[in-house]
Amino acid sequence: MALITKAVRGTRDVLPHESQALRYIERTALELAQAYGYAELRTPVFEHTELFERGMGDTTDVVQKEMYTFFDKGGRSVTLRPEGTAGAARACLEHGLLAEALPCKVSYVLRCYRYEKPQAGRYREFSQFGVECFGAATPAADAELIALAAETLATLSVTDTRVEINSIGCPECRKRYLDALRAHFAQRQSELCETCQGRLEKNPMRILDCKSPVCAGIATEAPTVLEYICDACAEHFDGVKRYLDAIALPYEINPRIVRGLDYYTRTVFEILSEFPEAKGLVLAGGGRYDGLVEELGGQHTPSLGFGMGIERVWLQMQALQAPLPEKHLCELYIAAMNSDALQRAAQLAQELRASGWHVEYDIVGRSLKAQMKYADKIHAKNTVVLGEDELKNQRAKLKDMKTGAEELMTLPDFADEFERLMLRRVERDILEGFGDDVTPFPQP
Ligand SMILES: [Zn+2]
Ligand SMILES: [Zn+2]
Repeated sequence: MALITKAVRGTRDVLPHESQALRYIERTALELAQAYGYAELRTPVFEHTELFERGMGDTTDVVQKEMYTFFDKGGRSVTLRPEGTAGAARACLEHGLLAEALPCKVSYVLRCYRYEKPQAGRYREFSQFGVECFGAATPAADAELIALAAETLATLSVTDTRVEINSIGCPECRKRYLDALRAHFAQRQSELCETCQGRLEKNPMRILDCKSPVCAGIATEAPTVLEYICDACAEHFDGVKRYLDAIALPYEINPRIVRGLDYYTRTVFEILSEFPEAKGLVLAGGGRYDGLVEELGGQHTPSLGFGMGIERVWLQMQALQAPLPEKHLCELYIAAMNSDALQRAAQLAQELRASGWHVEYDIVGRSLKAQMKYADKIHAKNTVVLGEDELKNQRAKLKDMKTGAEELMTLPDFADEFERLMLRRVERDILEGFGDDVTPFPQP
């Protein structure tokens, strides 16, 4: 029979051989964020459409072209979240977290949705790691945020990256800049795409990240925002650079970064891949958004955050052959020769699994030979065969599949003996130095 349907374009299945790596990335990122004081926040997959229109700006590409928006059965317009910041700000406001001691720091790993052209590392359903820090106005906060993003990639062994920073000023100095931009684009108005013609009056900064090649070409000659920022914004930007220098984090200033969302103020940054095959791919990006909380109906709350594309980071890790934790394998396969032995196998497995060991036995009715073949196929680290003799003597031989070494175990104490044996092996491995398949500590 033919398959009823295939996965929707731009979505992807994460198969078991890959999910372990993705979980490692997500866990590593969330744990490192914890060390910076960020606790995990979980928000709904969909929100009122208005939240994104207000929070991201209704002239952005995301809001105008890329949102999955629909009416639910109650007639409400809801949208699958295209990013994490607006939902995080909404949740913190709604639950009064911003009225407590600030800063309020939250982190998350989310599935997000954008109707974009799928390409390498870009999907319509994608995973994002991100953090948001509400209620911190000083340049030290910006530097700490950039440091966390860089450190996350470094911890995942994602080398070959470049940190670029910029300031896009505040609403005050941006007025002058927008005038300059309007003047620039007005000269070639007729060449701009239809969307950008509409943006020229309302928000000409959006033209800078239009994906149409013609608009992008005209944008390269546009004035840059750094030439227009006010003294207070310039001072803040100098502060950010000073703190980054103090923690020895290398960066470049790229006056062309504007980020795609309306709510950004002052510092914006991107971390890009320098890896030959993925040069210029943005792995992480974010910045300061001092106006967002107010825009959503809260008090003025200077805030900042970043997002990191998990699929892109994973792509880069694969290209770099970054080390991953050892693949999780079955620690014990219990083969059974008859139905009594199979029952004993089930009991033993329950007991060992309760202590956290990965144990399997035959649940498909294979012959002993086929069971051993299967144990081999799943790379079981140890096997034990239970039959009439073993049940009668209450003893069985445990075989180390790597070395072939055998160990006589007593069935009533099997779980304890197994635990002690595994501990002894760990000690032995440490004394003998690490095996070939374990990555040693990095050399100084
Ligand atoms: Zn300013
Ligand atoms: Zn355009």
